[in-house]
Amino acid sequence: MSDPVTDKPTVLIVGAGLGGLMLGALLEKQGVPYNIFERASTVKPLGSGMAVGPTLLPVFQQLGIYDDFLPLGKRIRYTPFYKETLESYRPTDHIAIEEFTGYEQYLVARPKLYELILKQVPAHKIHFGKRVLNITEEDDKVTVHTNDNGMHVGDIVVGADGAYSAVRTRMYDRLKAKGELPKGDQEDLPFSCTCLVGQTRVLDPEKYPIIKESTCVFPTVLGDDKPFSWSVMLTAQGTLCWSVIHHLNEQTSKAAMEQRFRNNDNAEWGAYPAQVMCDETRNLPIPLGEGLSTLGDLYDMAQKDMISKVMLEEKVFKTWHSGRVVLMGDGKVLVSTAVIFNVL
Ligand SMILES: Cc1cc2nc3c(=O)[nH]c(=O)nc-3n(C[C@H](O)[C@H](O)[C@H](O)COP(=O)(O)OP(=O)(O)OC[C@H]3O[C@@H](n4cnc5c(N)ncnc54)[C@H](O)[C@@H]3O)c2cc1C
Repeated sequence: MSDPVTDKPTVLIVGAGLGGLMLGALLEKQGVPYNIFERASTVKPLGSGMAVGPTLLPVFQQLGIYDDFLPLGKRIRYTPFYKETLESYRPTDHIAIEEFTGYEQYLVARPKLYELILKQVPAHKIHFGKRVLNITEEDDKVTVHTNDNGMHVGDIVVGADGAYSAVRTRMYDRLKAKGELPKGDQEDLPFSCTCLVGQTRVLDPEKYPIIKESTCVFPTVLGDDKPFSWSVMLTAQGTLCWSVIHHLNEQTSKAAMEQRFRNNDNAEWGAYPAQVMCDETRNLPIPLGEGLSTLGDLYDMAQKDMISKVMLEEKVFKTWHSGRVVLMGDGKVLVSTAVIFNVL
């Protein structure tokens, strides 16, 4: 409920992914009371690299973490594209973005970014091992019900619980029953891409000279006659991250969906499907020179349980709030924090 001293609303955030944590960090800075509920008991440092640039860097400045972020990132200057023969297309030059916005663009390993944002949120505000099962609203309050029979009362609930958001599902079920959910929001996620992400251990620059490059080496290869495209990214820590996208058709999409739901209801599949995708793609070529000529060379230098398969759903939902509940991040496909603050 509203803080009796400041009269600020109490925010209940569902999900401690990058979206939920980022909102937590902003609320912390603003002195708005909040709690974060995360279903996982611990967070595994999974993922590949993420590009951080003009949309996020001003927020980091406001949070006072810009200087902490800079050494974690590697500046992106060019992003070259290749055919599968490794013949190059014209690269994308990021300098125009820098000149236009005044901000450089950086590649950061997802686990490093997660660590940085996590540090901004006091540990006692994040409740791990609490899966949100339901949300109920009455009069001037909203209650989050968790798997341990917990009931947590607040003024506003933010669903930052990922692509298969339980908060969105509950909200949409209610709106659908009242005939208030737009048709587009009733359709399933397209399930058109799966993605293999991971990172090598820290590599020896003497053995792999590419590690010495001062800016981020970030090639993307487009498969000629295969349903794959793949990118490799050099990080500031001397590792190489990769993401391999499998572009699904009707048949492979159905098979992948069955595989995913057999495993769990999470956004990732678990170890076995990741291993299968590694086997399928290990011979794909990469343009990084001696000793680093295929994706398999990278897979062999990574810790196996840190390689994961995730889905890349692309859908912008029209309905992003109802009553005291609002969606953000992958559950909505990015509602800006400014919007969240307007709602508050
Ligand atoms: C394993 C993984 C690896 C990724 N790797 C990359 C990458 O390399 N590069 C890239 O650009 N993007 C990557 N992404 C995507 C990127 O991280 C997200 O797009 C971005 O973080 C925004 O996500 P989010 O916070 O909205 O949701 P998510 O990051 O999916 O976080 C949602 C959180 O909510 C929790 N949750 C779900 N349901 C409930 C519930 N009922 N109760 C409580 N908690 C719940 C989940 O456990 C999760 O921690 C990855 C995502 C995942 C999940």
